[in-house]
Amino acid sequence: MISVQEAQKIVHRESRLLGTENIALEAAIGRITAKALKANSDIPPFDRSQMDGYAVISSDTASSPVSLTIVGESSAGRGYSGRLRHGQAVRIMTGARVPEGADAVQQLEATIETGGAVTILQAVERGKFIVPRGAEAKRGRVCLAAGSVLTPWNIAIPATFGLKTIEVSKRPRVAIIPTGSELVPIYRKPPKDKIRDSNSLVLAAFCKSIGALPNVLPIASDDETALVAAIKTAAKSNDLIITTGGVSVGKYDRTRAAFEKSGAEIIFERIRIKPGKPVVFARKKNLLYFGLPGNPVSAAVTFFLLVRAAILSMQGLKSASPTPAFGSAAAPLKATKERDGFLPAKARFTDKGIIAEPIKWKGSSDFISLAEANALVHVPAGKNINFGEKVEVIFL
Ligand code: AMP
Ligand code: MG
Repeated sequence: MISVQEAQKIVHRESRLLGTENIALEAAIGRITAKALKANSDIPPFDRSQMDGYAVISSDTASSPVSLTIVGESSAGRGYSGRLRHGQAVRIMTGARVPEGADAVQQLEATIETGGAVTILQAVERGKFIVPRGAEAKRGRVCLAAGSVLTPWNIAIPATFGLKTIEVSKRPRVAIIPTGSELVPIYRKPPKDKIRDSNSLVLAAFCKSIGALPNVLPIASDDETALVAAIKTAAKSNDLIITTGGVSVGKYDRTRAAFEKSGAEIIFERIRIKPGKPVVFARKKNLLYFGLPGNPVSAAVTFFLLVRAAILSMQGLKSASPTPAFGSAAAPLKATKERDGFLPAKARFTDKGIIAEPIKWKGSSDFISLAEANALVHVPAGKNINFGEKVEVIFL
């Protein structure tokens, strides 16, 4: 059995970049940049006023109040073309170009305009309320590193440089194969002894949220031949295969054998983790295989801690594994002897920092309780955590 950290390292090591494609900027949210994005012009492209007010020569305002002659206007998109001289001011709007000769802007609130003149009530120092050309980015500066996730927070960068398309990593195609003779599709009423397959939808949703293209295959029964056939079909047109179920030691747990029979090499198959010990990880050339446990909480947690890292690494994200924060435990947490626990918890931000309270749950099948959690708390193997003690908290 290996630790979660070792497993994450191996997954990262075995994940290959998928290559890149150019896509429309409008479709790029959630995608990962393939190349560093350099400024192709200065930002701002001209000395820009930060305020509505008057562009002035700062030394003219040293002994204010002072009256200056208004010689024109500089509005957003239409700057004043002349040059400002001593004793003069130009009416200016936010976002407008500061005229030549001016070296400060006084805001409207500190002025009174009468006729063709403006009284500046307070002195302004040189540079005040001006964002000089190139102050935010000089042409050539890297504004977004390769391997950055495009979000509403940073998409303005390629937009402002006029990129119609952007080079991003290809989306991993992920086959999801639910296994288990007890499963029926969600749209069917389960007959006696059967249950609906919920894992497929969960995993597909996770995949979509991190840029992958999920492809849910029909349910495979607990039959090795059927499973091998499903895996071989999936292998033809996917970059990653996820199965759920059939990874324990029961008579009908055939996932590991099926991976091997379809030609994959097993890299690990047990992790010191709770929930989720049996996770089979295999590879055949660049195709990765994850055999996740069938229990819904185990499947979700192991996806979150491991498969996610593979999907993100394939797209070039550097730190693909979740980074923990620290908080304190709102209840004692009992450790498992040999396995690191990742227990569903409710974490709150308080004036004393993060406080994490484990949810009451019935174990790794209990996805109903899981819905209350917004974090996992890490309980290291063999180390009970007391009330109030420091814990690692991973937000979901
Ligand atoms: P297994 O890993 O095959 O031993 O399954 C463990 C538990 O998870 C069993 O109670 C299964 O019925 C349940 N399970 C397996 N696959 C799914 C699935 N796709 N959706 C919901 N529950 C499942
Ligand atoms: Mg099963």
